[in-house]
Amino acid sequence: MSLKNLRTHYTTQIDPGKIGDDKVALAGWVHEVRDLGGICFVVLRDRQGRAQVTLVKKKIDRELFNFARKLIRESVISVRGSIKPEEKAPNGYELIPDEIELLNEADSPLPLDTTGKVDAELDTRLDSRFIDLRRSRTNAIFRIRHEVLHAVRNYLANDGFLETSSPKVVATATEGGTALFPITYFDREAFLNQSPQLFKQILMSGGMDRVFEIGPIFRAEEHDTRRHLNEATSIDIEASFVDHFDVMEILENMVEYVYNQVIENVPDALEVLGIELKVPKTPFLKLTYQEAIDIVNSHGEEELKWGDDLSTLSEHTIGEHVFQETGEEHYFIIDWPTEIKPFYAMPYEEKPEFSKSFDMMHRTMELSSGAQRIHVPEMLKNRIADQGLDPEGFDFYLRAFSYGMPPHSGWGLGCERFVMTMLGVENIRDVVLFPRDRRRLSP
Ligand code: ATP
Ligand code: MG
Repeated sequence: MSLKNLRTHYTTQIDPGKIGDDKVALAGWVHEVRDLGGICFVVLRDRQGRAQVTLVKKKIDRELFNFARKLIRESVISVRGSIKPEEKAPNGYELIPDEIELLNEADSPLPLDTTGKVDAELDTRLDSRFIDLRRSRTNAIFRIRHEVLHAVRNYLANDGFLETSSPKVVATATEGGTALFPITYFDREAFLNQSPQLFKQILMSGGMDRVFEIGPIFRAEEHDTRRHLNEATSIDIEASFVDHFDVMEILENMVEYVYNQVIENVPDALEVLGIELKVPKTPFLKLTYQEAIDIVNSHGEEELKWGDDLSTLSEHTIGEHVFQETGEEHYFIIDWPTEIKPFYAMPYEEKPEFSKSFDMMHRTMELSSGAQRIHVPEMLKNRIADQGLDPEGFDFYLRAFSYGMPPHSGWGLGCERFVMTMLGVENIRDVVLFPRDRRRLSP
């Protein structure tokens, strides 16, 4: 028998009013067995939801009844039978089985409770991610993450962006500042790339015009926070013949679109998480860097001077201030001091100590950084040297600027931070299947 016959429908694909006498087969995990003596309910769970399998002792084969009663939780089964409308059951029907096939029996006790009745520590859940994913909350988070990435791809492709991929094994640091993971590449030292930045810029010289990449970035910093990973997923774009304001508009419109798509396409997952998503209103508020530090200083908990980077506390102060004033959680901070942004950020012609750069912020943290980039080779070389980096290491990159590099702009948006702020999740590790942090390397 073909394995495909083990499942004809997902639990949520059955319309009890329409199915009539047709036989169906559901496949999944034994979520719960409730044996009430004369009647036994087996709750079957698949990726999309749950179904109730009902066995009435007097009406059903005795052997099948006894077999169902003894099913062990989280074992894999396939159940074939007919559908009866039942308002009180999940999805409005019950399945009356002709046959239950046990495909693989689970050991007990389970490393984790899958019903959501017993809460487990994050570390315990991550150690047994395979079973944590069977919990409805975790399942909902990853179905939403899928929807977010799917919507991002749709949005950008519809806006003329080509999907590209850049190497993750590289010879030089992207921008200095960030710690890198060294690796052995045959007989040479190489690094895991911290960002696709330099490569996506080279593509602009290649005339690819508008590109995006969704891929891993590696940061070797010894973070121990709720919003840093050592391996994260970055959503990156680069576009020619546009400035930083143009790519900010692409970013805010994309964010708005993604929120709408999640609401439209995975309402059940939002419901599991108890979330009523509010779509961010565009255009987002734009604060200048100067206005942002003025807000911090007026709140009096911290004293920032021009040229300081924003601390976690100041990001919170500004985020709360914006939320109180506008009721919105997303905003931009623009016009950062050139000296605290990466070398490739374009300074303003008339005030070169300011750059055409921005961060997109959520009330609680930074989500994205972007800028118009320097496209003039001499200027770029000087900026690399100014930041104490060796221009020779950037040869492969700088060459692309000498033979016709158009003006261009772009940004990088952290996928995990985007999802965690959307869902109000406290720890970034909750929105990555297998997070990598200072302590965690397996699974
Ligand atoms: P932060 O200052 O918050 O550590 P960053 O300014 O170093 O972030 P960028 O280099 O600007 O980060 O990267 C662009 C985006 O990628 C960030 O806004 C963030 O959403 C995401 N990102 C960067 N580093 C990490 C990380 N270690 N873990 C998770 N996401 C990250
Ligand atoms: Mg940044």
